[in-house]
Amino acid sequence: MKVAIAGSGALGSRFGVMLHDAGNEVTLIDKWPEHIELIRKNGLLVDNGEEKRYVNIPVFYPSEVKETMDLVFVFTKSMGLQEMIEDIKPVIGEHTKIICLLNGVGHETILQEHISLHNIFMGVTLYTASLKGPGHAYFNGTGKVEIQNFVVGEKEELEAKQIVELLNEAGLNTSYSTNVTTSIWRKACTNGAMNAICALLDSNLHQYCSTDQAEPITRQIVKEFVIVANKKGASLNEEEIVDYVLQASKNIGSHYPSMHQDLVQNHRYTEVDFLNGAVARMSKEFEHEAPYNELITQLIHAKEQILEVK
Ligand code: NAD
Repeated sequence: MKVAIAGSGALGSRFGVMLHDAGNEVTLIDKWPEHIELIRKNGLLVDNGEEKRYVNIPVFYPSEVKETMDLVFVFTKSMGLQEMIEDIKPVIGEHTKIICLLNGVGHETILQEHISLHNIFMGVTLYTASLKGPGHAYFNGTGKVEIQNFVVGEKEELEAKQIVELLNEAGLNTSYSTNVTTSIWRKACTNGAMNAICALLDSNLHQYCSTDQAEPITRQIVKEFVIVANKKGASLNEEEIVDYVLQASKNIGSHYPSMHQDLVQNHRYTEVDFLNGAVARMSKEFEHEAPYNELITQLIHAKEQILEVK
């Protein structure tokens, strides 16, 4: 299979390496010059905490790739998706399947502007990865992937199941989902309940969840998420998610969520517009208000300006 990884940062590197090791013809695509130059010079350094190895996978800037791919996994951050899809048009042929496992909601709106709905496959993953620096990917442990065809149809379902098989052959623990919309919204809701608040308060999950305010704030954020999610075809239960989020966050302990890492630690833009911001925006479609999520989004954007993020 000819597979492109469109956005070869942390998670893209993990999927790219595993698909490459399983014998697929993988091409990495990215726009970060130092990362690309180091991979071209030495190979991608893959580190699992116990051993390190260099993996030779071709890597290109988006404008350099002309070959049509069988599969494209998009792994930019949400806010990079639009530009990436526009820049890799030559890679996307009539039969190219696009798999989107980004965190957050609303990516299908961007994808369907450029790609036939029949070729879009949405999913969610619990795999994790990080970059220790350009050209140096770090990942260990395991995870899960769920995938489903965007368009309901026999052919599309069969194609989704073939993608599931390909990922399992590569050691990525993947299942075919019969309701990926619920899984995507559940993950977005758990991220949306904690991620931005920890960035705003400069706290880890345990610190925030130990405050008296964590439960009432979580309840309000989740309530607004669940209203929109269920209108968008998910099937979420507010109580169940509040309990899960508070319990899981206490157990995870001193972990700083990704939005804290992006904004506070690295002064980078966050995916807030595809989490709390998406809920604030989509609520209006249903003549609802989502004041907690709206305010959180505004505060994150204010903090981006204060920290002069790039
Ligand atoms: P990342 O920042 O490490 O990687 C994104 C890569 O995309 C970067 O290397 C960047 O240079 C590249 N990129 C962005 N826009 C581009 C463009 N227009 N053209 C070319 N390259 C472009 O991000 P990540 O941590 O790998 O996360 C990717 C997605 O996966 C996010 O939605 C994230 O929330 C989700 N996710 C990440 C993890 C994790 O553990 N890292 C876990 C689950 C889900």
